Amino acid sequence: MTVERMPASAGGATSHGHLLELIRARGGLSRQQLLSATGMSRATLYERLDTLLRCGFIYEAEPLEATGGRRSRKIRFDDQGRVILALALGQTHATVTVTDTHGSPLRSLALSHDISGPSSAVLTPLIQAGKALVAQVDGEVLIGIGVSLPAPVEAITGHVSHATTLPGWSPDAVVKAISDVWTEPLVIENDARAAALGERRSDTETIVYVKVATGIGCGIVVEGSILRGAHGAAGDIGHIRMTDDGPLCRCGRRGCLAAHSSGRAILDRLAHEAFDDLDDVREAAGADDPGLSRILADAGGVLGRALAATITTINPNRIVIGGKIGSLPGFIRVVRARVMEDVVERIADGLIIEAGHPGDQSAVQGLATLVMRTVFAPDAVDAAVTDYIMA
Ligand SMILES: [Zn+2]
Repeated sequence: MTVERMPASAGGATSHGHLLELIRARGGLSRQQLLSATGMSRATLYERLDTLLRCGFIYEAEPLEATGGRRSRKIRFDDQGRVILALALGQTHATVTVTDTHGSPLRSLALSHDISGPSSAVLTPLIQAGKALVAQVDGEVLIGIGVSLPAPVEAITGHVSHATTLPGWSPDAVVKAISDVWTEPLVIENDARAAALGERRSDTETIVYVKVATGIGCGIVVEGSILRGAHGAAGDIGHIRMTDDGPLCRCGRRGCLAAHSSGRAILDRLAHEAFDDLDDVREAAGADDPGLSRILADAGGVLGRALAATITTINPNRIVIGGKIGSLPGFIRVVRARVMEDVVERIADGLIIEAGHPGDQSAVQGLATLVMRTVFAPDAVDAAVTDYIMA
């Protein structure tokens, strides 16, 4: 295995937090492997491992094969019983999920709502559901909470700003409502950006995730990091203007991508038929309704054209299109064909365009990753260790 040297702290040795990061990233290492990976003195390394052990961050796992007569044990990250609460909010529904530290769902609930209503009417039932779900199993430790929203979210503050989807919400509505109930670390992220992170397969991958549900959202992950932009609005492609005189958008202008290709736009075009919601559209799309196919093809074509510009700018490895409309096979086919027609060959070569989940699985996975990155950031671990030593 390749061994990378870890950054040294002020004392010349790898900090507790960076040691834990290394142990987590490698899925466990022996003391000997840690010595060669860090270049630390044996005494300092053993002392730091002992502290991490006493803080409950690590444990000694099964013995490895005997080396030189001694059987060495692997030091592993101790994530037993640690859980994360993820609240994934869409425009018409939300899922409340308790996950393990890898983002795998342990138990989940779905709720309907209208996100354009007052924040308390949306958040209170979700918080109640979250409390009940967390309380269901004894002995677990809640380590953090992640919330995703179909709106621009500022990275540092978690504030929502200039959101056409949440007209009556104060910027800090989510931060306040969650902090009133839980003191654990809180991460708030735009839903498509959380999903983009949840979809990434490696830290070298650049991916664009597009959610086409009631609205349209887009998240971009560049080599493992979420692109947020100056004001948290990166990827807000729904209001790219595709036509001057197109359908009226909720932002007040005409011809935005969302007014052509969102689930809401598709339902508007189907208004004279018996479609109540996007579940009805999904069902009819499976049954090959020619009128609906034409409407989906129009919407997919406009999205493909918009994405061709994004793809040419970013040159991603992969495009994932999720959401109740986005993940429909017929919709993806049209988007793919349009993109391949519009982008130049050196960008199209090797580009993968594929369907994501219709639901919130990717966002939940991404939220869990963000909570883990926050809770076990080397600085946070160092601070926890200092608190432990001082106590
Ligand atoms: Zn608009």
